[in-house]
Amino acid sequence: MKMVTDPARIRRQDPGNPDVCNVYSLHKIFSTPEQVNMVNVECRRAGIGCVDCKKLLAENINQNLAPLREKRNELAKDPDGVRDVLIDGARRAGEIAEATMEGVRKAVALP
Ligand code: SF4
Repeated sequence: MKMVTDPARIRRQDPGNPDVCNVYSLHKIFSTPEQVNMVNVECRRAGIGCVDCKKLLAENINQNLAPLREKRNELAKDPDGVRDVLIDGARRAGEIAEATMEGVRKAVALP
C-alpha cells in the first residue's frame, strides 16, 4: 500500500497517468486484460483511487501466488524428499558441469 504511484496525482480527484505508475506496470503482469484496461481508463479520469487500484492488484497477485503457496506447503511436509531432490539435482548438475569443463579444457588446451 506504500508503493509510489503517479507522483502528480496528489488527491483522489486528480486524474492520474498510469504510464508513469509502477502499480499499473504490475497490473499488466498480474491482472486480466479487462482490469488493465479499466485501470488505464479510470485512472486517467480519476474514476478509481490509488487505494482501490492497489487492493485490486494485491488480490490478483495473491490469486497468482496461491498455487505456488499451496505447492510450497505441500513440499514443507516432506523435507527429506525435498533434500533428496536437491542432492540429486546437485549431483546431476555437477556431472554436466564436469563434462562442460572437460570440453573447455580441451578447447583451450589446458591439462
Ligand atoms: S489509480 Fe492505479 S494506475 Fe492510477 S496512479 Fe493510482 S495506483 Fe497508479
